Amino acid sequence: MNKKVRVRFAPSPTGYLHIGGLRTALYNFLYAKKHKGDYFLRIEDTDQKRVVPGAIKKLIDSLDWAGLKHNEGVFVNEKGDIYEKGEYKPYIQSKRLEIYKKYAHELVEKKKAYYCFCTPERLDSLRAVQEKARLAPAYDKLCLKEISREEAEKKIANGEKCVIRFDVPETGETEFEDVVRGKVKFTNKNLDDFVILKSDGYPTYHLAHVVDDHLMKTTLVLRGEEWLSSTPKHLLLYQAFDWNPPQYGHLCVILNKNTKKKLSKRDGDVSVGDFMKKGYLPEAVVNFIALLGWNPKTEQEFFTLEELIEEFDISKLNKSGAIFDRDKLDWMNSIYLRKKEDWELIEPSRPYLEEDEEKLSDEYIEKIVAVEKERIKKLSDIAENKEVYLKKPTYEKDLLKWKDMDNNNLAISLKKALDIISSVEESKWTLENLKNKLLAAADPENRGELLWPLRVALTGKEKSPSPWEVAWAVGKRETLFRIQKAIEKIK
Ligand code: GLU
Repeated sequence: MNKKVRVRFAPSPTGYLHIGGLRTALYNFLYAKKHKGDYFLRIEDTDQKRVVPGAIKKLIDSLDWAGLKHNEGVFVNEKGDIYEKGEYKPYIQSKRLEIYKKYAHELVEKKKAYYCFCTPERLDSLRAVQEKARLAPAYDKLCLKEISREEAEKKIANGEKCVIRFDVPETGETEFEDVVRGKVKFTNKNLDDFVILKSDGYPTYHLAHVVDDHLMKTTLVLRGEEWLSSTPKHLLLYQAFDWNPPQYGHLCVILNKNTKKKLSKRDGDVSVGDFMKKGYLPEAVVNFIALLGWNPKTEQEFFTLEELIEEFDISKLNKSGAIFDRDKLDWMNSIYLRKKEDWELIEPSRPYLEEDEEKLSDEYIEKIVAVEKERIKKLSDIAENKEVYLKKPTYEKDLLKWKDMDNNNLAISLKKALDIISSVEESKWTLENLKNKLLAAADPENRGELLWPLRVALTGKEKSPSPWEVAWAVGKRETLFRIQKAIEKIK
């Protein structure tokens, strides 16, 4: 019988969740759901210098926002406290130090690892010599060759600081079948005797993740390409423990569209939090990143999360870099926005419209959304036009004039608009009705004569939504007030 699929997302809490990290989480999530397996969240915080307070909560918020809910591991409750759930607790590596110590010592016992007492100064001078000789930096196994086990234990008892290094075989090759890249081979002698347990008692990432993936019964590790060169070390650790390794798959890099270099913070928004703040919809971001490195091999471009689960197939993961095309993301997001009902966007739009203490009614926001939805790419764009709805327009009198209109004709046009608007009863104050009335009254050969002055009177802008849309949104009383003000300006 096949083993139950178990995959994990294992971020380090070093700040924010990069869009590439969200993609890793997504592919693991899709794979687990597709195969009715488990998807758990483990926090890899063994590099304590890089840990940023509050980062775990932010990470989980970003994953929840995207709808990638895990069913095991680390969670945040409503009060904002972190808690853990699942058979293999704890899932935060800094709480598992005793476990790693035990396994590091087991490797020493098995003579697969050894104590190393070299000082940072010795390691620096060794590196300098190797650099000069144009050799790759590598530990020279001095402590393995010259310090016996008894001696090492005496030194430790005397309080001398040491690390535990893995004894990488000097011959042979480590080979594996990457689910994305096919066969990958590394020559052992090019691998350094890496540290598995640091002098402060913390494990390195290499040891910690191998021990955890074994104990937590991970069946497939899907992770970023940057880990590919570490994988032979991990496989050697599995071998040394006599454990079966999980399958590995390394996802392609995400590239900047122009420079074709790995997408980084310098390229603008790259964290999930940035996209959340700008008002991208999670469905759009998830759909967009799903296609960064996975090719459904059909024409279909829009996928719900359920469809992604259905279609996802690791054999369709690409190994060559994926281009991050912001324009495409914006386009996709605008399509998703249009598919939403206006009321669904009331709360998500609220932060971009409200200022200070002012509270806007749901009804008013819904109208603004209805008018703006077709024009914006992301919800934060709604703020660009917000003064049309929230402030009295300010503008130069001349902007009211359509082409070479004089004051007299301008006044006639605005009074005509005032009459039309006044004649529309409150109960018939609909977008359709306002549009029909205004278009019927306008000269078909020269619509601007009626519509331009009215639109400027209502918005104060050269470019804006149509006068019937703005009139409908701001309401009859405010519309009449704005036209009156424009008429007064001409006098
Ligand atoms: N902690 C590693 C990271 O932050 C995880 C790598 C892995 O999935 O094994 O990328």
